[in-house]
Amino acid sequence: AAKAAGRGKHRLYEPSMHSEAAERQVMENDLRQAIERGELAVHFQPIVRAAGEEISGFESLVRWQHPTRGPISPSKFIPLAEEAGLIGKIGEWVLRTSLEEASNWPDHVRVAVNLSPLQFNDPSVVAMVSKHLNETGVRAERLELEITEGVFLAEGDTTDDTFAKLKALGVRLALDDFGTGYSSLGYLKKAPFDKIKIDQSFVRGAASATNRNAAIIRAIVTLAETLGMDTCAEGVETHDDLQLIRELGVSMVQGYIFGKPSPAETARELANSTTVHAEGFACIREPRH
Ligand code: C2E
Ligand code: MG
Ligand code: MG
Ligand code: MG
Repeated sequence: AAKAAGRGKHRLYEPSMHSEAAERQVMENDLRQAIERGELAVHFQPIVRAAGEEISGFESLVRWQHPTRGPISPSKFIPLAEEAGLIGKIGEWVLRTSLEEASNWPDHVRVAVNLSPLQFNDPSVVAMVSKHLNETGVRAERLELEITEGVFLAEGDTTDDTFAKLKALGVRLALDDFGTGYSSLGYLKKAPFDKIKIDQSFVRGAASATNRNAAIIRAIVTLAETLGMDTCAEGVETHDDLQLIRELGVSMVQGYIFGKPSPAETARELANSTTVHAEGFACIREPRH
């Protein structure tokens, strides 16, 4: 403190430091009001059965259109919401909005909703999920909750209990971003997951002969099948990767090749058309036989 008050004093008022903290505060306040101001939206990205082109469901992905800064990525504002104590409210709004939308889709089409570890570790999460299922009339089997390995970092007694209670409700559980954590395999034995989502970092470019991703994906598929779990490859962008993913026996595909996250109206049309073609993305220029 003495140092800071002496020679380094000016640093306390360094514009960049000041603006960084102030910036956070401003964004936090803006986010606090984003729901009421109608700035949040949920977009939906198709998840397709790898064996054909049938839509299994959609992942709901939250979007924030800031009034002056434009669109802000959830990778930025979800962590902010977690730190600011806003994730419960935002997450519940996303779940409710997603279920309301899913109630418009054909009954076999699922909806996958991301749940922050903070939401999952809140003891009221089961009642919250149950309430919105009841009020929207969506069958529990159609809801898939995506959680990351972060759930296990703050593990307490509630975690095991929550898994069991959610399974008892009938909802499905997916382990998101699989392979990116420190002890991914350990988590698989801890919880009754229905699906493993293979992280994009293993999927993108997996078809290129020089990398080891294909071997890793193959191993994950074998493991998942043994444990009775589905697999989903995230981030499939090219025909080559799609073909490889199919050959490796991954059960579901999600990626720009089948469609980017899109607004509810577009998802509704897709949900009713039931199949989607692998042609939606600009990088698909290679000639196909
Ligand atoms: P995630 O749950 O792993 O979602 C997949 C992300 O990959 C999405 O990014 C999606 O747009 C992107 N993606 C899908 N296919 C492709 C592809 O082929 N190529 C590329 N380059 N990207 C692809 P998005 O929407 O920016 O979301 C980022 C992350 O933010 C999500 O990762 C999730 O962790 C978090 N997130 C988004 N919505 C919510 C939410 O409602 N609640 C919570 N707790 N987290 C959310
Ligand atoms: Mg996800
Ligand atoms: Mg993911
Ligand atoms: Mg992710």
